[in-house]
Order: sequence, then structure tokens, then C-alpha cells
Amino acid sequence: MRKKIVAGNWKMNMDYNEGLALFSEIVNMVKDEITGQQQAVVCSPFIHLHSLAQLAKGYDKIAIGAQNAHQNESGAFTGETSAKMIKSTGAAYVILGHSERRQYFGENNELLAKKTDTVLANGLKPIFCIGETLDEREANQYFDVIKTQLQEGLYHLSAEQFGQVVLAYEPVWAIGTGKTATSDQAQEIHAFIRAELAAKYGQEVADDTTILYGGSANPKNAPELFAQPDIDGGLIGGASLKSRDFLDIVK
Ligand code: PGA
Repeated sequence: MRKKIVAGNWKMNMDYNEGLALFSEIVNMVKDEITGQQQAVVCSPFIHLHSLAQLAKGYDKIAIGAQNAHQNESGAFTGETSAKMIKSTGAAYVILGHSERRQYFGENNELLAKKTDTVLANGLKPIFCIGETLDEREANQYFDVIKTQLQEGLYHLSAEQFGQVVLAYEPVWAIGTGKTATSDQAQEIHAFIRAELAAKYGQEVADDTTILYGGSANPKNAPELFAQPDIDGGLIGGASLKSRDFLDIVK
């Protein structure tokens, strides 16, 4: 059975002490709420990773993630952080291909394919983001866009490697805008993604893949979104910065 995951994406928020305080609250609030095949993940800035991993010790249902990793193993890349470094902090996940990275840092599918390989080679799990822009949705191109993102970013992986990947469908027009996809819109895409995965990797891999929804998810809309058969949880931006909201979404 595939995992249900609620993952917070703090983006470039929280200084060191604020981050530790928020995470301590989150651990206390959610530790008894997560059971069975469920997991809460907090994807923080790099500066917090090691300390959060320490605070999460002993809670096997709470994991830590980074928000990016460099595609190379090491070397002269001033200001960058490698997958091996991230792994050494105790983090388990890395968000890759977030639309803000694609938009502001020029990350394309080809680069993301390389990042995925490096992340997997270092024993980390990618939370790989895909999703269409507003223009692409209005032009009815969204199925093609998502298919291309999957093909170019991930389909070079073996089925075994793909088993380590968590997908996040994040329509760009819904991120940070307060404009959530309706549960029907989101379910339509999640079912499409799962059918694509079944065609590529077989039904078993498709059924085992966790596919998160992201984009203005909050405690109000999460129950309906997460009740959809192909939505396995959420990647949460703004609402993950408030421990109470994050808890309510986990619940
Ligand atoms: P949001 O961000 O929940 O603030 O819309 C989601 C994301 O960017 O992952």
C-alpha cells in the first residue's frame, strides 16, 4: 500500500531559531496523529536540516527534507549544497523541480533528470514536482505538459529507482495564490499521472506511487482533496508555517 504524506515546504522562511521553535511545536502536535503508512515531512532551508533531524529522532513517522540539491557530487560550485551533504544531516527527502526553481532558477527537465539521479545515488527520496502554468491550462495543454515533465525528468529511471520517488502535482496557478484546484480538477490529473505511470512502469508501480497535491492547500480544503482516490496527501507551502494549520492538515 502506498504511503500517505503531508509534506511542508517552508521555502525561504524561518531563521534558525524560528525554525527550531516551529518544528518543536509540529513534532509535539503531530507525533500521535500519524499512524500506519502515513508520514509527515518538513522540508526546511539547509540551515535547519541537521537540527530538525536531531529533534525528529525517535519519531519514525516524521522525516526531514531539503528543497533543492546540486546535480554534481561535489566540487567547485560556490554556494551550492550536494545530495551527500544533505544525506549527512539526517534528512531523507529532497524536493526537486519545484515550479519556483523552474521559473526563477531556470531548472529544466534535463537538469532535473540529473538532479534526480544524484539524489537517488545518495540514498535520498526526491519529491518531484510537476504541474502546468495558467497559460498552459487555459490552452488545454496541461496533459501534454505533465507527460513531458514525467518523460524528460523521470522516465530514464528503472522501476526500482522509480519506487523511491514521490510525485507532487502542483498547478503553478494555484501556488501561493489562494486559488486551489478543485478536488475534481486535481483528481483528474492525479488519475492521469497514475495511468501514465502504469503504462510506463506497470500497474503495481503506479499503485505504489505516492502522488501529492500542492497549491494553496489548507485545513479547509484538505479533507476534500485528500478524500480523492488518487490524491495521497499534500505538499504544503504557506499553511506549513503555522503549526496549528499543519496539524489540522495532517489530521
Ligand atoms: P502554497 O505552496 O501551499 O503556499 O500554495 C505550495 C508549494 O509551493 O509547494
